[in-house]
Amino acid sequence: MSKQFGKRFQGKVAIVTASTQGIGFGIAERLGLEGASVVISSRKQSNVDEAVEKLKAKGIEVLGLVCHVSNAQHRKNLVDKTVQKYGKIDVVVSNAAANPSVDPILETKDSVLDKLWDINVKTAILLLKDASPHLTKGSSVIFISSISAYIPHSSMAMYAVTKTALLGLTKALATEMAPDTRVNCVAPGFVPTHFADFITSNDDVRKTVEDNTLLKRLGTTADMAAATAFLASDDASYITGETLVVAGGMPSRL
Ligand code: NAP
Repeated sequence: MSKQFGKRFQGKVAIVTASTQGIGFGIAERLGLEGASVVISSRKQSNVDEAVEKLKAKGIEVLGLVCHVSNAQHRKNLVDKTVQKYGKIDVVVSNAAANPSVDPILETKDSVLDKLWDINVKTAILLLKDASPHLTKGSSVIFISSISAYIPHSSMAMYAVTKTALLGLTKALATEMAPDTRVNCVAPGFVPTHFADFITSNDDVRKTVEDNTLLKRLGTTADMAAATAFLASDDASYITGETLVVAGGMPSRL
């Protein structure tokens, strides 16, 4: 990203989960380039180290930690180390998700249903339980949902339902955390990341997805980062409880 950005996050501290590659990394990079101290994390130390080096090379102040979002000790450590180093938390972007099955919902194993709920919804709540005592007045929480929250395609139906749950969670927590903290959500369309390999690496599927957008292209991590940075910034200071669909005009809602 060679573009110049404003400095909307100067002096701010941002935690972005699942942020060593893909959309999470793009968000951390954007917030960092706009002046935030960013705390990035994922399951693998080597991925954390590599991402930290990339961000530092861009002049970004960054702390990198291992945090598997399902691990309570990891989540606590993420919050504790952030507060020890930076003294507060201004932005939390909850980005982690799993999509372990393509089975129809009624054929999905109990253990897989549990994993989907656990990683895609419950851990987002548990992380905020740990983080909330340290959130500043004027802070901002962003959940990363998906266009599939509105269109639960059969190949990812239960994953989609967990993403729909995040839309409800956004509304509910916006009420609960007001007026000091705003809570919003970004629903990305399809972005060619590792997570979306099964769609974007097949030319025919990719073309179908592109044709299903009004803008005739896939999204980029920078598109998602720009929307997330907007919602997290004071430019969105009168917006809470909302979901911004960033999907090139794919069908979502009126
Ligand atoms: P990605 O490129 O595959 O990146 C996933 C990141 O998450 C990696 O840094 C990975 O690092 C980390 N990670 C995976 N599982 C984790 C866990 N349990 N705890 C902590 N970190 C974990 O994925 P992405 O496409 O950017 O997806 C990010 C978010 O966007 C997800 O919520 C996804 O549902 C949403 N989304 C994506 C698309 C799309 O088309 N790509 C569309 C709609 C919504 P490690 O392997 O080191 O853990």
